[in-house]
Amino acid sequence: MATLKDFRNNVKPNWCPGCGDFSVQAAIQRAAANVGLEPEGLAVVSGIGCSGRISGYINAYGFHGIHGRSLPIAQGVKMANRDLTVIASGGDGDGFAIGMGHTVHAIRRNIDVTYIVMDNQIYGLTKGQASPRSAEGFKTKSTPLGTIESAISPLEVAMAAGATFVAQSFSSNLKQLTAVIEAGLNHKGFSLINVFSPCVTFNKVNTYDWFKENIVDLDEIPDYDYTNRVMAMTKIMETNSMLTGIIYQNKEKRSYEDSIPTFAKEGLAKQDLHISEADFNKM
Ligand code: SF4
Repeated sequence: MATLKDFRNNVKPNWCPGCGDFSVQAAIQRAAANVGLEPEGLAVVSGIGCSGRISGYINAYGFHGIHGRSLPIAQGVKMANRDLTVIASGGDGDGFAIGMGHTVHAIRRNIDVTYIVMDNQIYGLTKGQASPRSAEGFKTKSTPLGTIESAISPLEVAMAAGATFVAQSFSSNLKQLTAVIEAGLNHKGFSLINVFSPCVTFNKVNTYDWFKENIVDLDEIPDYDYTNRVMAMTKIMETNSMLTGIIYQNKEKRSYEDSIPTFAKEGLAKQDLHISEADFNKM
């Protein structure tokens, strides 16, 4: 059985010292080992940005895609080989700007892919422009008078799109981050895990200390029920999307793959497919 060490390779990350993405890498490696994966059973697909480098730093199948397109590639990988566990990854600019269309449709498709977004609320690789997660009024070189647009809430968008698994965590909380990634990997369907992953070089507002002051940990809300969609949406709105932990999970909805008769034949009875016995036998 593979251990954490088996998911490490000898490529040295070139992220800035202190970048939150280091913890995301470590949490993926830990979670993969904890859920019993082998390196040859995991594919990590990434987009473009500092976060995009992550697919090269994990000993597994890796594909460094193009900006905003990690999800189409990851879905193709999963459809071609459903025995692989597939992680898609990227940054907030990658997934919630150019890639937002793919994000919404992958969510409603409920394909069995775990999407981990390193949300640093800025474009880091291109040296610090406002991203769709930057707060209104956020000043950067590209927005010297402050951002005019308001920040998007990926949690609200995911819930509205019918997500079956929504979680959020923080690079500084490796224990929680590992646990939510494990839960995402075990979820049968699409899982969105948004991670507050500070950019220590260009974002001097949303720092580790800022997140520590503003995060609301669901472990501290004892009667929270993550299977209750209305409660999840209400808490997201009440906390201005600063919740961390597993926010929502629906285990009842069938995944995309399991809804395709030719993929699901072994797992489904013909009456579930609403087709004749003759058509069932042709499959
Ligand atoms: Fe991380 Fe920011 Fe450095 Fe990119 S620029 S590696 S996001 S700290």
